[in-house]
Amino acid sequence: MSSNAPLIIVGGGLAGSLAALAIAERRPDVPLLLIEAEASFGGNHVWSYFDGDVEGDEDSLVKAMNPIRWPSHTVRFPGRNRALGFGYNSVHSDGLDALVRERLAPTQWKLGAAATALAPDGVTLHDGTRIAASAVIDARGPDGPMPGLELAWQKFVGVEYDAPGHGLAAPIIMDATVDQTDGYRFVYSLPFSPSRLLVEDTYYTDGAALDTAALGERIADYVAAQGWAGRPVSQETGVLPILLGGDPDTFWPATDPVARLGLKGGFFHPTTGYSLPQAAANAIALATLADLGGSSIAAWTRTRFVDHWRGGGFYRLLNRLLFRAALPEERFKVFTHFYRLDEALVSRFYAGRLTTGDKFRILTGKPPVPISKALRVMFS
Ligand SMILES: Cc1cc2nc3c(=O)[nH]c(=O)nc-3n(C[C@H](O)[C@H](O)[C@H](O)COP(=O)(O)OP(=O)(O)OC[C@H]3O[C@@H](n4cnc5c(N)ncnc54)[C@H](O)[C@@H]3O)c2cc1C
Repeated sequence: MSSNAPLIIVGGGLAGSLAALAIAERRPDVPLLLIEAEASFGGNHVWSYFDGDVEGDEDSLVKAMNPIRWPSHTVRFPGRNRALGFGYNSVHSDGLDALVRERLAPTQWKLGAAATALAPDGVTLHDGTRIAASAVIDARGPDGPMPGLELAWQKFVGVEYDAPGHGLAAPIIMDATVDQTDGYRFVYSLPFSPSRLLVEDTYYTDGAALDTAALGERIADYVAAQGWAGRPVSQETGVLPILLGGDPDTFWPATDPVARLGLKGGFFHPTTGYSLPQAAANAIALATLADLGGSSIAAWTRTRFVDHWRGGGFYRLLNRLLFRAALPEERFKVFTHFYRLDEALVSRFYAGRLTTGDKFRILTGKPPVPISKALRVMFS
């Protein structure tokens, strides 16, 4: 392998692109190659996050994608409507695509290049070309099985509307006043501008199957019921993993010599499946690693995964309570109960920074699930 062989990141989605951007900015001496199978970076997504989820340098990296920010947001449950005074942000993948093209030299990326084999010292592309590497990072995203993980799903269809005069001022993160079919169901609405609105029909379910047509109809019904006349302009779908348990060593064997980032490395919030904050944090931390050699990065990313797994134990317990102790049509009560808590705690919950006192407060109060089932889940 030539000493000038690049550090190759396979997968120019959220995690791979943010890592490439952080390395390009902070380690301009490191030869770098970002390889993406599709024709643009980041796919076609909207990524959202709360103010408290990203801080400092991570915030600067994410802000460079030009997110929209709302200073507050709301939630709606039967008998409980609430405005929360901490900000919510959304960024379209177009912003990531533009940033990669602006900040990386054309020699530092390849689009339309699907990798067929990854090894610690090189990558083979679909056309048979082999590119030698000083280090390889697998950031190929959520496709394919996640061995060893016990999962449920947050699945959704989102439709963006051209809806002049919709009148919605702040995001509705969860409107759970809708019919509770197929698990915990809520509608999520983001007013991108006075005339643009994203409306997502979302389910916390045991199965990953998504009936796009049926959800599309439910979105149209919801939009009409809110009085938001509009024309659909685009659609996104998502089936995100919700972590109930599993064996981290099966998911990512300690012997695996290739580094991982993003969903491929299990770096997502156990209860929401969201990964933007972890992607930004990993990108910044990676760029400050003293040794960017292949074995060093592989060991470092796996250690971060193990830490992330250990830190997620309480969230996995809550997820098991949601999926195992509550009947599907009653899961909304768990979220209704959660949203009685104070804003700072809710913010720390999404940011993955719960304190011991927070955990205690989440589990106290009148239980939203049958206590016998809850105890069985907690002690099983
Ligand atoms: C519709 C949708 C909305 C979401 N909304 C949010 C949100 O609001 N907030 C949030 O934090 N998370 C959200 N998520 C969840 C999660 O954060 C995203 O899925 C995120 O994009 C995952 O980042 P990643 O880098 O792991 O994977 P991806 O962003 O999917 O990137 C993987 C990349 O690898 C490429 N690739 C795959 N195989 C190969 C190959 N063989 N060779 C080369 N390239 C390859 C893919 O084309 C893709 O570009 C959403 C997910 C979806 C699907």
